[in-house]
Amino acid sequence: MNHAPSVPVAADKLIHLLDLSFDELSALLEDAGIRPVHTGALWRTLHRESATPLADSNKLPPPVRRWLNQYRFEVAIDQPTLISEIESSDGYTRKLLLRLEDGHEIETVIMGYPGRFTVCLSTQVGCAMGCVFCATGQMGFTRQLRVGEIVAQVHSAQQVLNRSGNTGLRNAVLMGMGEPLHNYDASIKAMQIVCDNRGIGLGESRITISSVGVVPAIRRFADEKHGFNLAVSLHASNDTERVALIPVNQRWPITDILDSCRYYTETTGKRVLFGWTLIDGKNDSPDEARRVANLLKGQDAHVNLIRLNPTDGFGGSASARTAAETFSDIIQESGIPCTLRQRRGIDVAAGCGQLAAKQ
Ligand code: SF4
Repeated sequence: MNHAPSVPVAADKLIHLLDLSFDELSALLEDAGIRPVHTGALWRTLHRESATPLADSNKLPPPVRRWLNQYRFEVAIDQPTLISEIESSDGYTRKLLLRLEDGHEIETVIMGYPGRFTVCLSTQVGCAMGCVFCATGQMGFTRQLRVGEIVAQVHSAQQVLNRSGNTGLRNAVLMGMGEPLHNYDASIKAMQIVCDNRGIGLGESRITISSVGVVPAIRRFADEKHGFNLAVSLHASNDTERVALIPVNQRWPITDILDSCRYYTETTGKRVLFGWTLIDGKNDSPDEARRVANLLKGQDAHVNLIRLNPTDGFGGSASARTAAETFSDIIQESGIPCTLRQRRGIDVAAGCGQLAAKQ
């Protein structure tokens, strides 16, 4: 019996090379009569050198080049086209607008920190979750990204960094356009490819997958015991207020979300990062901070606070700095670690909740 992995073929009947794991790529070459020993060269060229056109790369063994030339109409690589690149005025954030093969556009953000860079990846075109304060949610859902379209964003970020003489892409966060756990298989497989040491080689613990609380997917993520981190956005301490901000809370209320987070910690031994967007006069009072601390009592949690970033479709405004600091102090005094995050890239609409794939 042949146990070689079957190679996924997309609906367009093309084999998208960036969709494939190392083993799937190896099986594909083997099917074409090419020795699997050549897989490493093709994998490195795909994921480290981003060479296009691939068949011209002189780093590839001749049989692989011949095969790529012969099957060029059946094999796709799918590097997106970089349409624009905007840098924030403080120079720490770069937003890339990328056009996919079918013309849809997505955004990817590179955030610079001392000695390292983090890439924020999109997992869907638009988003079905409809969070009212989020520019992506305001767009509605168009389609899921394929594995390769998520992986290719890391390539694009690396190319942009290399071009400006920077190295040090260390972290990835799935917090761009879309809900990663609503595109579970593609998001997880993309991150496994990104972590493969024979290619990009990011560390699993340097990847954070963010969710608004897709409960069955959080439980599955726990059962599969991935090394990636889990971040869950809360934003409200009761269901009525949370539904008003995150409509999908009707389906998965706070109690269910926190149960699944406890299950995740019990199963994996890992802490959950809870996100809280601070909106002036809505969810930033000292009483609300005490309610959050109470909700998370006994949970291995770290709370990340960020003051709201503005979007055209939402009338709320960011909490005052002093209110945010008080909120943070109350949570920390309850014994739960809490960080007030710096807002980044707001002037180029690259901050949390601002991505809308607009030029
Ligand atoms: S915050 Fe995240 S889950 Fe909510 S609409 Fe925006 S992209 Fe989707």
